[in-house]
Amino acid sequence: MLANYNRSAAALRAQVQAQGISDSTILDVIEKTPRHLFVDDVLKHKSYENTALPIGQGQTISQPYIVAKMTELLKQAGVTGRVLEIGTGSGYQTAVLAQVFSEVCSVERIKSLQWQAKRRLHQLDLYNVAMKHGDGWQGWSSKAPFAGILVTAAAKTVPEALLAQLAEGGVMIAPIGEQEQTLMRYSKTAEGIKAERLAAVRFVPLVAGDIVL
Ligand code: SAH
Repeated sequence: MLANYNRSAAALRAQVQAQGISDSTILDVIEKTPRHLFVDDVLKHKSYENTALPIGQGQTISQPYIVAKMTELLKQAGVTGRVLEIGTGSGYQTAVLAQVFSEVCSVERIKSLQWQAKRRLHQLDLYNVAMKHGDGWQGWSSKAPFAGILVTAAAKTVPEALLAQLAEGGVMIAPIGEQEQTLMRYSKTAEGIKAERLAAVRFVPLVAGDIVL
């Protein structure tokens, strides 16, 4: 990375850590992932700010803190195997996941975003990622079960297909709601699904329906 980006990335790591992320692997990944490659040229000067930014098509690249937090929630739950991400977007969260977990599957409904994200991940030599253009409400059944599932857009109600694709012992982290959203943790046990409310959050909506752009 260029020297000025290196300094900004180190500052971003410090901010994310100050907000409560303690896992050193995840902090290292936040520092070394070149977030400026995931935004348009006109926004590159803001790419190491700890904020969400527009990526076109009315979508956003998530705030680095929330990316780190959701990744940490999966890791702390003991997830090690295959992880499913719904809402590839820029591919930034995907890149972070790919450096923490052995295998990542990611679903995006907007083809142009998916295509750009795929190119970026190859540029970073991250080859443990499979991408699918499709409706995230349906998950990715042929790759199931997943040790962890991360949803990066807010669903009105919990997507049942995703819970069905979760392995026993697995965890799904997902924002649920519309204007008011709550980050939820769903743990799948032999007795069933345990749901916990974690925090108030703000994500773009997980668009319902079958139209895949
Ligand atoms: N993690 C991404 C966040 C992107 S915003 C990043 O950091 O860049 C959420 C993404 O979810 C958007 O790209 C949006 O197109 C996608 N999305 C919304 N509804 C979806 C659906 N039903 N299926 C798949 N992707 C969806």
